Amino acid sequence: MTPWIDLRSDTVTKPTPEMRRAMAEAEVGDDVYGEDPTVNRLEQRAAEIFEREAALFVPSGSMGNLISIRIHCDHGSEVICESRGHIFNFEMASMSAIAGCLPRPVATDDGVLTWKHIEPAIRPKIYYRAQTGLISLENTHNIAGGRVLPTEVQDQICDRAHERAIPVHLDGARIFNAALALGQSVAAITRKVDSIMFCLSKGLGAPVGSMVVGSRDFIAKARVYRKMFGGGMRQVGVLAAAGLVALEKHPPLLRRDHQKAQRLAEALREIPGVRIAHQVETNILVFDVSGTGLAAPELSARLKERGVLANAVDPNTMRMVTHYDVSEEDIERALRVLHEVVPTARGVAAR
Ligand SMILES: *Cc1c(COP(=O)(O)O)cnc(C)c1O
Repeated sequence: MTPWIDLRSDTVTKPTPEMRRAMAEAEVGDDVYGEDPTVNRLEQRAAEIFEREAALFVPSGSMGNLISIRIHCDHGSEVICESRGHIFNFEMASMSAIAGCLPRPVATDDGVLTWKHIEPAIRPKIYYRAQTGLISLENTHNIAGGRVLPTEVQDQICDRAHERAIPVHLDGARIFNAALALGQSVAAITRKVDSIMFCLSKGLGAPVGSMVVGSRDFIAKARVYRKMFGGGMRQVGVLAAAGLVALEKHPPLLRRDHQKAQRLAEALREIPGVRIAHQVETNILVFDVSGTGLAAPELSARLKERGVLANAVDPNTMRMVTHYDVSEEDIERALRVLHEVVPTARGVAAR
């Protein structure tokens, strides 16, 4: 049968031939001893690109976020985050289970947290109230549809937070998508946050791995917690080599992903009963399908029967994510399949 068109996530990207070559040829050593030259180079390059002192290679984005929360917060602290955010919904409650923190989620309409949303959620400085230990931002915001946090908004949050001695962490799993959409460098759009996590394994295409970026002191602590959480890795240069290709060569490729998402959005908007509630700025589309007469899990199942993979986010909502392993032709084919399976779309000709 024809291969799947996999729009579930940009995590599904497979390593490119160039990555596989780099992996095969990688110089390696024991990274727990700090002796893997390829890991050291990846960490140095990440720090340079973000114009920070240091960076750390971690097995997953979730671990990078958890390590950062653990460093910033004491047990019993509250962490302010957006209510649809990844750290609150998709990280196994690790901030509570392991870091001992209470999430303080704040709802927004569009995923863009502003100081106006955050300020009322900060706990008063009274000894008998739990204290706000951290503000965690997400850029781009995944479940809000790949929304970009405007740099001024993020900078203002950091300025106000720092006046109150509250640190700001950035879940920048897709920060390169945000930088591209904003036309600014990743360094420029993350200048004021205290720590950054970004994923090599999403749209950048590496098979495994994320980075934590920050000050030398912060990364020294991050190395301790990575080991404590079971993330100390040995001859891991084979993975860092793919990460280096992802970091150095793949950011410009994201432009095509954004264009494919635009094309999908434009065609989806023509399907009666489908509603995209957000601006499509990057590579993620989240859309309501309740008007089609199909529940999202049912639509997902029907698409799958015809070779198109896309996940339901909730009973009414689907998500599609573009990446380098879906071509422009795949997008057109996925749209034809959508027209076949959505009852309200039959009769509306697919272009
Ligand atoms: C994917 C993702 C992460 C990290 O996920 P892992 O699967 O643990 O690497 C963190 N934040 C956001 C917004 C993500 O999309």
